[in-house]
Amino acid sequence: MNTVFTPAPATSLPVHGLRERFPVRRVYCVGRNYAEHAKEMGFTGREPPFFFLKPADAVLVVNAGETGTMPYPSLTKSLHHEIELVVAIGTGGSNIPAAAAHKHIYGYAVGLDMTRRDLQSDMKKQGRPWEIGKAFDHSAPIGPITPAAQAGDVSQAEIYLQVNGTDRQRSKLSKLIWNIGETIEHLSAAWELQPGDLIFTGTPEGVAAVMAGDVLVGEVAGLGKLSVKVV
Ligand code: MN
Repeated sequence: MNTVFTPAPATSLPVHGLRERFPVRRVYCVGRNYAEHAKEMGFTGREPPFFFLKPADAVLVVNAGETGTMPYPSLTKSLHHEIELVVAIGTGGSNIPAAAAHKHIYGYAVGLDMTRRDLQSDMKKQGRPWEIGKAFDHSAPIGPITPAAQAGDVSQAEIYLQVNGTDRQRSKLSKLIWNIGETIEHLSAAWELQPGDLIFTGTPEGVAAVMAGDVLVGEVAGLGKLSVKVV
């Protein structure tokens, strides 16, 4: 195919134990999926899950053993960290029942849903879309994917984030309001999932601002660490 300019290369993530990479199609994110985080954002109760997206080229790929470099984004004075389990879809589908969701999962990774909180809050107040707060360049640092068979059952795994060596977020995936299967059920009712889709599953409490120079280290037990420096 002839194109009028050279297309940007597709985003792809490394996979633990493989030379082949995981090509990214879409990045879905779940909002407010831990009760304590919903509370800190001013909400209570179990509301139906809701979703937003980030562009695939907003993924900041962090290879195993490396520290990613995230430029401090423009326009904000409040860049927040949100450590999250990321689910990688290997088999697509629509209307996937929660009980069958595991058959669609290729693997798991650790990701950061970086957020320009001040801009997101302004948009929320005005009832406007969140993209400027959530879907900016480099807003989705993600580490290597661990295939599901290697990762085993992650549903009870510990998740944490440290900034400059100090705990900011610490919880367990068992505290997800909508678990992985339920999230896939809801998401696949709204969009037909395809191989290459990623799902940020939500962040626990403790979200806060970072500054240039800060080093973020996050982990989901069994999936390895994600390390990112803000510059
Ligand atoms: Mn999030």
